Amino acid sequence: MRGLSVALVEKEDFGSGTSGRTSRLVHGGLRYLEQGRLGLVRESRRERAALMRIAPHLVQPLRFSWPVYGGARVTKARLGAGLTLYDMLSLSRPGKWHETLSPAELLAREPALKRDGLAGGGSYLDSSTDDGRLTLANALSASYWNAVVVNHMTATTVSESSPHRVELTNNITGEHRTICGRVIVRAVGPWSSTAAHSKGSHILVDRAVVGNREAIALLSPLDGRVMFVLPSGAHTIIGTTEILTRASPDEVRASEPEISYLVDSVNSYLADSRLSRSDVISAWAGLRPLASPAPGDLTSASREHSIARDATGTITITGGKLTTYRAVAEETVDLVQVALGMRASRSRTAIEALPGADRERLIAEMIVSEPTTGEPLTGNSQLRPADLTYSVRHEMALTLSDLLIRRTLAAFRARDHAMSLAAPAADVVAPLLGWSSALKEAAIADYRRDISRIFTIDPD
Ligand SMILES: Cc1cc2nc3c(=O)[nH]c(=O)nc-3n(C[C@H](O)[C@H](O)[C@H](O)COP(=O)(O)OP(=O)(O)OC[C@H]3O[C@@H](n4cnc5c(N)ncnc54)[C@H](O)[C@@H]3O)c2cc1C
Repeated sequence: MRGLSVALVEKEDFGSGTSGRTSRLVHGGLRYLEQGRLGLVRESRRERAALMRIAPHLVQPLRFSWPVYGGARVTKARLGAGLTLYDMLSLSRPGKWHETLSPAELLAREPALKRDGLAGGGSYLDSSTDDGRLTLANALSASYWNAVVVNHMTATTVSESSPHRVELTNNITGEHRTICGRVIVRAVGPWSSTAAHSKGSHILVDRAVVGNREAIALLSPLDGRVMFVLPSGAHTIIGTTEILTRASPDEVRASEPEISYLVDSVNSYLADSRLSRSDVISAWAGLRPLASPAPGDLTSASREHSIARDATGTITITGGKLTTYRAVAEETVDLVQVALGMRASRSRTAIEALPGADRERLIAEMIVSEPTTGEPLTGNSQLRPADLTYSVRHEMALTLSDLLIRRTLAAFRARDHAMSLAAPAADVVAPLLGWSSALKEAAIADYRRDISRIFTIDPD
């Protein structure tokens, strides 16, 4: 958007890393208030407002209830004060978004909660998103603004002097290419270092089992951490954990002890403790890079991210939140312009809409012109051939994992992680992607490997 000549290279798929394993919240970070990090909360709330403006199809308001039980670390009075401050820090839309609630009012909102010891609580607004699609929308937007955008291509060696030569390997065809750039930005999340990262896992269960109506914020009775119970259509997502690990970001998975932690924590808030291990439909994990200010760090220590420039001029971004990605990107591009000897020009990312708002309409039009593409892919599947065709034609989907894990989230929602949809999906997209029957079989085998890599639950 600022007129630079840009290539964006992603080794797997947009949102295949941490950005597709989040709690799917665009949030102000209420819990940062406890740590006194008011600047971060203000920035997050400003970014939430910006994203609701540029991507209303991807970022929707979500109401949270926060129940307070007798003896809780965060008392009702403290919660009320925190929520008032939270509203005050929302400069974009002044007004009262929160309420303090009596026990009866809270139970009217969330009847599944335990009554014993309930002192009341609060209710406040944040937002939910589809993290994979939000990430994809940014890649598609970059492409629209003339960046060269590729997925399934790994950047390997980078030469030390400018213009830097970057070796690329196409992970589908095995081909190699070299590209040149005057400034290299490494936005590789937890791949940026082999240091320990903080692992966070989520589980997905049927919403009817938990019985939550909207989102609930809880303090785990096991260690006092804030965790969330989040509605996701007919399902509920519960997360997260926080465990230091040296696991490779390519091989990070949820474990049985994490699942027990999540199930036990939520059960202690539910009447009848109705959730059990067997209710868990799927579980997955992501890595939060621990952004300690690196040598050459150009950001203020109070931020949650670090942008560092090394001796070769390569800029590395780590940390941050999905919520604040736009602000981090704006800051990074300012630095890129300075590195190019230019003055930082005005960013337009807070006002230019992200693509994708017309997706449903375009799919509906496809179905009108070809009605069979609107029939379920199999049996009672919610997926239709039209959804897959659209993602291949307009959303850079190249593999079954792109389609079933990230473009549609089907893999998260089924106990078999949509393995039963792999062959019918391959039949639909094979002509579009030029797959022979051998390539179709290989694509199905790759999908089996990917879901095992992401959704297998480690014993410990
Ligand atoms: C459990 C959990 C829950 C979270 N929940 C939230 C939330 O609800 N809201 C929120 O705002 N934030 C949340 N976060 C934080 C948020 O997920 C991260 O801040 C954000 O996703 C980081 O994005 P990133 O681009 O830095 O990293 P990533 O999303 O990991 O992206 C890095 C990308 O680089 C690619 N890559 C790596 N090496 C190469 C290479 N050599 N060549 C080409 N490509 C390469 C990878 O494939 C990957 O796609 C959460 C984090 C975790 C772990």
